[in-house]
Amino acid sequence: MRCVLCRDRAGWWRRTCADCRRLLAVWQAHRGAGMRVLLTQFAASGVASEKVARFLDAEPRAESGSIRDQIAADMTNQLLHALGQSERQTGAEVKRLRRRGAWRGFDRRPDE
Ligand SMILES: [Zn+2]
Repeated sequence: MRCVLCRDRAGWWRRTCADCRRLLAVWQAHRGAGMRVLLTQFAASGVASEKVARFLDAEPRAESGSIRDQIAADMTNQLLHALGQSERQTGAEVKRLRRRGAWRGFDRRPDE
């Protein structure tokens, strides 16, 4: 079977490959950490950076937003919470905003 995230070979009866399972575990362990911290942890996991990039762009469920979008939503929610707001941002909303061009990835340098 193919990994649902990176599309590499995942092995028998596996939806995700060993690398993506490792990255998912890192993400869960550091959920709520900033993108910079997460990227450092992903790099430290030993998974090739090219594969980390594919993992971040993968969409675990249809229209759920990519993993990158979900990390951005987590960060936004923390900010909203800190500001005493009760609204919640979802990965799907980040994806919608990003498609409209109204969203810049936290880990990407804005183009001047
Ligand atoms: Zn994978």
